[in-house]
Amino acid sequence: MTNLSHIPLIKDQLGRALRDLRISVMDRCNFRCVYCMPEDKFHPGFKFLPSKKRLSFDEMLRLVRIFTKLGVTKIRITGGEPLLRVNLTDFIGDLSTIGNIKDIALTTNGVLLKKYAYELKASGLDRITVSLDSIDPNEFKLMTGGRGDLDRVLSGIDEAQRAGFQRIKINAVIKKGINENNILKMVEYFRDQPVVLRFIEYMDVGTINDWQQQETIPSSEIIELISNKWSLSPIKQNYEGEVASRFIFDDIGTEIGFISSMTNPFCGSCTRARLSSDGKLYNCLFASTGIDIKSWIRSDMDDKTIEEKIVSIWQSRNDRYSELRYLNQNNKDKEKVEMYYIGG
Ligand code: SF4
Repeated sequence: MTNLSHIPLIKDQLGRALRDLRISVMDRCNFRCVYCMPEDKFHPGFKFLPSKKRLSFDEMLRLVRIFTKLGVTKIRITGGEPLLRVNLTDFIGDLSTIGNIKDIALTTNGVLLKKYAYELKASGLDRITVSLDSIDPNEFKLMTGGRGDLDRVLSGIDEAQRAGFQRIKINAVIKKGINENNILKMVEYFRDQPVVLRFIEYMDVGTINDWQQQETIPSSEIIELISNKWSLSPIKQNYEGEVASRFIFDDIGTEIGFISSMTNPFCGSCTRARLSSDGKLYNCLFASTGIDIKSWIRSDMDDKTIEEKIVSIWQSRNDRYSELRYLNQNNKDKEKVEMYYIGG
């Protein structure tokens, strides 16, 4: 157990400590999910970041070392699709040598997982979350902009389990009119497997997905739908700040979760900072602007100075978008960062 008592707690305006850093290592993706990268906006001519604009892994490692001095112990690697970034497993290997890091997780669409599962395990990765919104091959293709091969994702999940990854999380975003008819089929498919299926309320992340309130199905309705078929019991969180509300199936004891940013926001315990692949720091998934810290590490600024600047960014943080979503009328037209760019 890493002793963190020597690390001063850096708290924001709402008393939330900085504990988690989510790093988007890549803005590109090989899917075009309708709520994140709709094909019509991310067409073949769309200009993604040129690689020299992205942080190098050495630059990311330097930043991570700085963040761990400020209390960060958990790293989540996201995208776009992170497995598209070359030498990712080397980066994870280097991350796992940084003393204060207790947990390294990866969020992927799973289509390249079969290829990298054993390498990822050997590199020191602790946990995997796979974004999978349907167990129906046609619907899955529809949701991924015609690019998702369901069999490849499912065989990737199987391979990752064979490689030794346990309790793989399966995150499914439910969008009304697209995949709500698949909810019970997904439960049927996964509930007796050693994975944790989690349903996510469709959120107004970014602006490109043209989110409409009526397309969000509240978790309470999904829980009711599932409970009509299988008896569920709530269980307590694994740790403070966990985003999912957890339940078990009373008959077989396996777990299922619900992430309800729309109807049951969890900003009060949000300890997450986000870093885009081109080095912008965001204090919230729904932020409008990020702070360019790449220019700092590409200047002759020393680590101590960068540390102090990050401390003041976090200490001035008062973001709680999900709690204020309906209260603040301006939110509706607010320009927000896109999910593909900073990861979920
Ligand atoms: S809306 Fe922002 S502050 Fe609230 S939980 Fe999400 S990222 Fe954290």
